[in-house]
Amino acid sequence: MTFDRIDMNALEADLIRIRRDLHRHPETAWTEFRTTALIISELEKLGLPVEFGPAIHVPEKMYGMPKEAEMQACYERALQESDRPDLIEKMKGGFTGCITEIQGELPGPTVGIRVDIDCNDCDESAAENHKPAAGGYASLHAHCMHACGHDAHTAIGIGTARLLCAYRDRLPGKVVLVFQPGEEGLRGAASLTATGRFAECDYFFGAHVGLGISQKEKLQVGDVVASTYGFLSSTKFDAVFHGKAAHAGASPDQGCNAIAAASAAVINMLAIARHHDGASRINIGTFRGGTGRNVIPDRAELGIETRGVTNEINEYMEKAAVRVLEGAAAMYGCSVETRFMGSAGGVVCDEELVEKTVAVLEKTEGVKRIIRSGDFGGGEDVTTIMRDVQAHGGQVTEMILGMPLTAPHHNGLFDVDERVIGLGARVFASLALEVSRI
Ligand SMILES: [Zn+2]
Repeated sequence: MTFDRIDMNALEADLIRIRRDLHRHPETAWTEFRTTALIISELEKLGLPVEFGPAIHVPEKMYGMPKEAEMQACYERALQESDRPDLIEKMKGGFTGCITEIQGELPGPTVGIRVDIDCNDCDESAAENHKPAAGGYASLHAHCMHACGHDAHTAIGIGTARLLCAYRDRLPGKVVLVFQPGEEGLRGAASLTATGRFAECDYFFGAHVGLGISQKEKLQVGDVVASTYGFLSSTKFDAVFHGKAAHAGASPDQGCNAIAAASAAVINMLAIARHHDGASRINIGTFRGGTGRNVIPDRAELGIETRGVTNEINEYMEKAAVRVLEGAAAMYGCSVETRFMGSAGGVVCDEELVEKTVAVLEKTEGVKRIIRSGDFGGGEDVTTIMRDVQAHGGQVTEMILGMPLTAPHHNGLFDVDERVIGLGARVFASLALEVSRI
């Protein structure tokens, strides 16, 4: 559909302004305080009810929370940088993200739409050919960068709300619009899902800008992938080895070397036999340990992730990794504990909804080419929400909004083609308005 009640040029310019503001002030998982406050004030300007804070979370399911001191530093930074510290105070402890409902004036279904809002642990490039650096809106926060386009997703979510508010008289049912924290590391969706918020959704839509298919197929803005497959099921966990400290010169035999145990575990986890049924991955991405050069180390910590093309294959990798960890600990007289940090399962988009999505996209202004299905090529915790919607009888799809890429995702030179923001808002709003009419 076309949105002729709205000055789209003015709307797009404003959404780009919002995206650049978010890009300049990126916040990692569970610390999206300023980001959430900005979203809430935008939604309140539209007169929408907004739920946020502890009410939209289940604390036991808030996986992979940052350490206390880091959380506090981010909280204080946000209080300084935001014009709505009153909102931020209600999110203390990491209760970030928000949910709004847009009630239509016609009877109809409940449509869930989710966008993610967090940034990456990544340093932004200062190169002159990197647009945010040249344009003066590069990240102000060290080691934080929107390098996956979630700043654009957030702006798309706000744009969707604005469009739908202008067409309430034509909107059937209602839209539950979710701004999810903590997608990176697959940490945020489980908490929001556990509140039961998605059980009522008849239809659910998610979307990601760019990704591998944009690179591979040279997608442009206006190319939309209506459904995705190949979500790798993934588990993120830390392993902490506990050994016994001793003088490395005088009494090495009295110690138990935690770094030796962790090293044996790293090498052997990388040697886990691959599953015959399909692709699997394992990565040990961080390794920290020890206290001093002449001390037998009594502690070592590993950051681990497993992935599999099915939940079963991921489980196989995870179990094998735990077996190796325990074996390696025993070899050196150490003990090991594992700490679950996040996970997401695979999901298959519903054909019936994909059909309807394609039909709506065909009539959506700005959509030039529709690709029915494409490889997502990674993990996304939107799958946690999608599985929940399906478990309650709803239908789901996750789309990709194509755009030319300057660099891969999670790279310091990654950038968003900002024309995708207005398009994304039109896509979500059209789907909410039209899906039940197909
Ligand atoms: Zn992402």
